[in-house]
Amino acid sequence: MDLQGKRVLVVGMASSGIAIALFLRRHGARVVVSEMRAAEDLRAEISGLLEAGVAIETGGHRERTFLDADFIVVSPGVPSQLPLLQRARAQQIPVLGEIEVATRFLKGSIVAITGSNGKTTTTALVGHILAGCGFPVQVGGNIGVPLSSLVETSTDDTVNVMELSSFQLETVQDFHAHIAVVLNLTQDHLDRHGSMEAYAAAKQRIFLNQTAQDYAVLNGRDEWCRRYAGNVSSSVRWFNPEDGGALAEGAFAEAGNIVWREARRVTQLFALDDIPLRGRHNLENVLAAVSVACLLSRKATGEALSPARVRQIADAVRSFKAVEHRLEFVAKVNGVNYFNDSKATNVDSTLRALESFSGGVWVILGGKDKGSDYRPLIPLLRERTRGILLIGAAAAKIASHLEPSGLPLTSAGTLSRALEMAHAQAKPGDTVLLAPACASFDQFQNYEHRGRVFKELVARLAV
Ligand code: ADP
Repeated sequence: MDLQGKRVLVVGMASSGIAIALFLRRHGARVVVSEMRAAEDLRAEISGLLEAGVAIETGGHRERTFLDADFIVVSPGVPSQLPLLQRARAQQIPVLGEIEVATRFLKGSIVAITGSNGKTTTTALVGHILAGCGFPVQVGGNIGVPLSSLVETSTDDTVNVMELSSFQLETVQDFHAHIAVVLNLTQDHLDRHGSMEAYAAAKQRIFLNQTAQDYAVLNGRDEWCRRYAGNVSSSVRWFNPEDGGALAEGAFAEAGNIVWREARRVTQLFALDDIPLRGRHNLENVLAAVSVACLLSRKATGEALSPARVRQIADAVRSFKAVEHRLEFVAKVNGVNYFNDSKATNVDSTLRALESFSGGVWVILGGKDKGSDYRPLIPLLRERTRGILLIGAAAAKIASHLEPSGLPLTSAGTLSRALEMAHAQAKPGDTVLLAPACASFDQFQNYEHRGRVFKELVARLAV
């Protein structure tokens, strides 16, 4: 792909849009960034781009800008069916994503990780384990480091570990992952994808261009992963917290140990109790991450892993810390434990959070609804919670889904009020859990902001 003198339009001025615009500019392209938001909200972004010689269009998109481009790069936040993009496609102007463009230039191999939940945790963990094993590793993608910012530091030996969302996968074409991991597929983003089938089809693009020399690492307990297994050209390795069956190859929990099984050879890796993360969902993330490390640590199927390598993998898992806002322990106040799972922005992740506690939970639910059905929460809420505090714009919808089951609901409105109420009622040994099952944008800038506010409020309770 020759960029010299090419007219490229980048749509969207968020972090990955800015990173790819700068990358394209450094490689000699004539770049325009077009953004819906007004210039007043984008001062810092604009000055950096102008300095680098990138042209800018804010407050809306002009048709001419789209139709004059040699190709267009879309940010993951921009709907791929935008009418102007459709018009450009009709004129044979290629519309690519940031991941597609970056991977055309990236050197080394690709480990790609997707799923509805657990992507960031697993991506960080894979990076941590591979670094512990001495691989030259880089971590990026949806995890907050734009992939295009890793291109120039990649070499032929680099293992590029990337977290990919369904939006990022929607626009890949020549993308080719050596190892493609799918953690799970549950209801999420249906407001944008329309149906589970469309969402699953976007995720399935992670296997595009794979051959028999590549691997698909799939969740043995996930219905969609089992469907994918029949449709991939790569070799499948399973991960499963239960025994995967004697013939299954992959990572499993067996009699209190994590094992790697391939070609009937079983390697004991470490004890289940060595895993520092809470909850069964995190066990799945660990198994997926370990599978990647094992695949990269042997040259052929079933070849033994060296004892030194097994030790490196085990040590890395033991020393891994939960990523911020993912079932993160905040503090113990008057004998009550506070956990921040602000990243639980859909129903499934809230279910996983509730599963991680045996009972006595005061859970804070609500925020911006993403078209979810909250009724699947009812059995675990009944079993594990003492109180349910509802906040944000989705409160009324959640209440209408949960009320018929007679659960102890309280309308709290704001996070600060919810925390006051939980603090006043919780008894020593109880847990107060922010796992809202909703996006945050009704009351906060993003889930990180919501998590930070929660932690600050908890810190104030402690004084
Ligand atoms: P993602 O990047 O896919 O959003 P994160 O690792 O950021 O995943 O976690 C998102 C939320 O989902 C958090 O609330 C976390 O506790 C929960 N979670 C993590 N791993 C899993 C999993 N394997 N299955 C379900 N929920 C998970």
